[in-house]
Amino acid sequence: MTASALPKLSTATLSLSLPGVAFITGGSSGLGAGAALAFADLGAKIAVADINTKLGEETVAKINGTYPGVAIFVRCDVSQEADIEAAIAQTVAAFGRIDYAINAAGIVVAGDKVTLIKDTDASVFDRTQNIDARGVFLCMKHQIRQMETQDVPAGRPRASRGVIVNLASRASLEGVSKFGSYCSAKHAVLGMSRVAAVECAPNQIRVVAMCPGLVKSPGHVEAAKEVDDFLLTTVPMGRFGVVEEITDGLIFLCSDMASFLTGNAFEIDGGCAAR
Ligand code: NAD
Repeated sequence: MTASALPKLSTATLSLSLPGVAFITGGSSGLGAGAALAFADLGAKIAVADINTKLGEETVAKINGTYPGVAIFVRCDVSQEADIEAAIAQTVAAFGRIDYAINAAGIVVAGDKVTLIKDTDASVFDRTQNIDARGVFLCMKHQIRQMETQDVPAGRPRASRGVIVNLASRASLEGVSKFGSYCSAKHAVLGMSRVAAVECAPNQIRVVAMCPGLVKSPGHVEAAKEVDDFLLTTVPMGRFGVVEEITDGLIFLCSDMASFLTGNAFEIDGGCAAR
């Protein structure tokens, strides 16, 4: 008997698809843009929510060029609560609901890359918290409110009412010297994700903190070579990751295959957390 003729032994295996609507902050560039393209390939409708209109419109045009009408751009500064509320409302008006919220908008303030805590200006700390930590808080607040109004999709026994994945970092799990403001904000993202996961579990909303290691995205290409060289010595695999290696993880976390997974720090980091 050939393998294909074997009777099916298990109902556990699901085909990989992402039916529904993805709201992606930071979707104009890097990991967020990679998620927008990959989620569209798997059947999701896409709202790119970002402060960078030019790059965001390019991402949307690329998706709509292949899948007409599947993507929209909604301008949104995640430090502004009114922007977030408006972007969510625009997305729901266009597509009816939000199944997957990917909170990827984030910054690394240049001065912070090379500054010890004792030398860091408080304005650098404040700006980083405002976007990387407070921005995620505000996005989750309004995404949860929207998801609570939605039904669990019919016909998918392992589906959630909604899934939120926050882009945390390996810096959520360790102290990376000279990245004090960023580490602090990313620790906050992990903590908030855990709290939200516990609070939302009874409502069938899952929340996960994705913790990527180093990826050469546009946001990270400007680091000085000596900073890169130092950081690479801390990666057991000895290399940067590529965007697709992170988006594959985002696909899994949002899919029905991850139906019993919430509140995790999900590491894709070339072995950093194990070290
Ligand atoms: P990126 O700079 O390529 O993309 C970040 C996006 O966020 C950009 O499109 C930018 O316009 C947007 N953004 C910035 N401030 C915003 C604001 N106030 N409102 C709305 N959008 C805003 O960076 P990336 O490498 O793709 O990073 C994405 C996320 O992943 C970030 O949260 C980052 O901290 C995290 N991360 C990245 C790495 C890495 O190595 N690249 C590692 C761990 C975690």
